[in-house]
Amino acid sequence: MAGNNPPTDPLVTTERVYAAREMAAEDGVDLLVFTPGSDLRYLSGYNAHAMERLTALAVPRQGEPFLVVPRLEAPMVDAGPAGALGLELLAWDETDDPFALLAGAATGRLGTTPARVAVGGRTWAEHALGIQRALPGSALELANPIVDRLRMVKSAAEVEELAAAGAAIDRVHARMAEWLRVGRTEAEVGADIAAAILEEGHVGVDFTIVGSGPNGASPHHELSDRAIGAGDLVVVDIGGVTATGYRSDCTRTYVVGGSADDEVAEWYGVLHAAQRAATEAVRPGVTAEQIDEAARAVIRDAGWGEHFIHRTGHGIGLDTHEAPYIVEGNALPLSPGMAFSVEPGIYLAGRCGARIEDIVVCTEDGVRVLNEVSRELVELAG
Ligand code: ZN
Ligand code: ZN
Repeated sequence: MAGNNPPTDPLVTTERVYAAREMAAEDGVDLLVFTPGSDLRYLSGYNAHAMERLTALAVPRQGEPFLVVPRLEAPMVDAGPAGALGLELLAWDETDDPFALLAGAATGRLGTTPARVAVGGRTWAEHALGIQRALPGSALELANPIVDRLRMVKSAAEVEELAAAGAAIDRVHARMAEWLRVGRTEAEVGADIAAAILEEGHVGVDFTIVGSGPNGASPHHELSDRAIGAGDLVVVDIGGVTATGYRSDCTRTYVVGGSADDEVAEWYGVLHAAQRAATEAVRPGVTAEQIDEAARAVIRDAGWGEHFIHRTGHGIGLDTHEAPYIVEGNALPLSPGMAFSVEPGIYLAGRCGARIEDIVVCTEDGVRVLNEVSRELVELAG
């Protein structure tokens, strides 16, 4: 919500929006437009509430960037981080056409109608199409190739925000024995975890996945009324958002009220080795798909390859899932500052599953792991 905005955000500087402008000019894109969401927050510091009224940051490839905002929000925006950056505000009244206002100002700065207009990937269709209608003859495309290049590489300050988020979610996992017990339902456990996510240093809960027994074989299973049985494996994948907007995301697998049998212990050991191999492979120049393969090869070679049914990871920052994606086919070389999850899993349909997930950061000479809570299959008394 906009009300959460500090008056200035030390994480956001004008360098970001000017870097985006320079990249647009290099790529031959005439105009970048960002509506409420993480791109807007990243570039301007403005954590805007998404709604039908148009709020947009416009970055023409020449001239000053500007913000189009509803008149009723202009004082608030001016008093917030975007105002502190000195971005020009163009306020529109309830009966004005905000798309025409944006189009006119951008055309004025460019001296001509923009031909290539790039919008953030999560722009609402009604806004994207409104922009295009106001700029006849323009072609819309995604701004991701530009803004992702900036957002993928975290500054030292951003890495510290992700580290704080990682420490916060580690504290929640460390308390799991308080809630995860035989006879309780996944929904009951999930409600307790959600409260703890807030208690331990987040301002919002992003997701609580508690996959017990056969539900653990469905990677994005959330919560159900299934009661946890003695000896169940339980996949717990949880994350939240901190006050500065940075996210946590960490998975551990538990065995409740029993211990793992030999077969589970064997393939969990394979999973653990795969997660370690991928983490240890992280360094500048290695490609995203090589990290995926480092995990996948261990699982495949041990004979469990068909049970690892998703990519190895995703970037994380102001969004839980963002570039770079750690997946076969992504030949992007890693560079220092890239932050992403390493989260292989093994899923046995109808029976159970396990996943181990850490957030890691590529450093100048290797890797920094932001989650430190034990990666063993943790046995809880139940
Ligand atoms: Zn996760
Ligand atoms: Zn994840």
